Amino acid sequence: MKHTAPEHKHILYGRPVSPLREQKLNDDYLCQVGSSVSCGACCGLYNVADASRQSLERLLAARTSRFADVERSIAGIMAFKREIEASESQERPLPDFHHCPFLGLVGPRQETVGCMLHPLEPLNKGMDFRSLSHYGGMACHIYFCPATRLLPTRCKQIVRTVISDWYLYGLLVTEHRLLQAILAEIEHRLNRQVLRDDVVHNPQAREALYNLFLLRVSWPFRQPGRIRLVNYFFNDHRHPRPVIAPAVGEQTIKRYHTILQELETRTDCANVVRQAELYLDDKFRILQEHLQI
Ligand code: SF4
Ligand code: SF4
Repeated sequence: MKHTAPEHKHILYGRPVSPLREQKLNDDYLCQVGSSVSCGACCGLYNVADASRQSLERLLAARTSRFADVERSIAGIMAFKREIEASESQERPLPDFHHCPFLGLVGPRQETVGCMLHPLEPLNKGMDFRSLSHYGGMACHIYFCPATRLLPTRCKQIVRTVISDWYLYGLLVTEHRLLQAILAEIEHRLNRQVLRDDVVHNPQAREALYNLFLLRVSWPFRQPGRIRLVNYFFNDHRHPRPVIAPAVGEQTIKRYHTILQELETRTDCANVVRQAELYLDDKFRILQEHLQI
């Protein structure tokens, strides 16, 4: 579906913004944050065989460069799609989660991930080509993931403030259970709410929080074989995370249950769970110290 002209001024790359929401752009809009931070998770960004940062950067840069030469016509764009699908691995960790070949690098310096069919992409000259996508233009236009509704505003603001690159941002921002559990833990420790202002002018607290967020990609206690990074967050729950269970002889997982669950932690060995708890204790203690300054 094409946007009408009056809507254009309310659109950021990749996602539309209604006039009412526009006033909140600086606060809690999640899809596009800045010239190097944005999210393409619902377009299947991470549903690739190799979802490492280097591999995705290479893939997106190659597409962007190739798409620059593509004629903006139905035939030209569909030929590009076929070419990309023939030249890239089509192996998908989640075969029923579409990975869109029109994801590329956008923004003034092409430093962030976004939709190459979007009308604000300069070479599209105001035309919205998203109707040529797998989901169709309407779905691309109106979809918002659960995190956009479920995360409290202060949590969105903190994530936007702490993460400065699209790769980690897109992996984390859809993780509303993990993010809320991290926030709840630190607020419990401080016995107060944590707000964006707590980290804006406090680089050490920002770094400590960033190190907690980084666990999304570097968690050392993951279940063997659970190495896929893609998160399936859609409401049909077709690919839920495996439910963690206490090790034999243990009655419950007492501490950090949600965090351990969302990080797909190995819990069949009580010793590993204990190490994971101590690891988290350490990360949270450092953050707590910096927030108490
Ligand atoms: S996954 Fe959520 S935050 Fe990311 S682009 Fe889609 S709607 Fe926006
Ligand atoms: S066409 Fe739709 S699914 Fe593809 S990148 Fe653009 S917004 Fe995402």
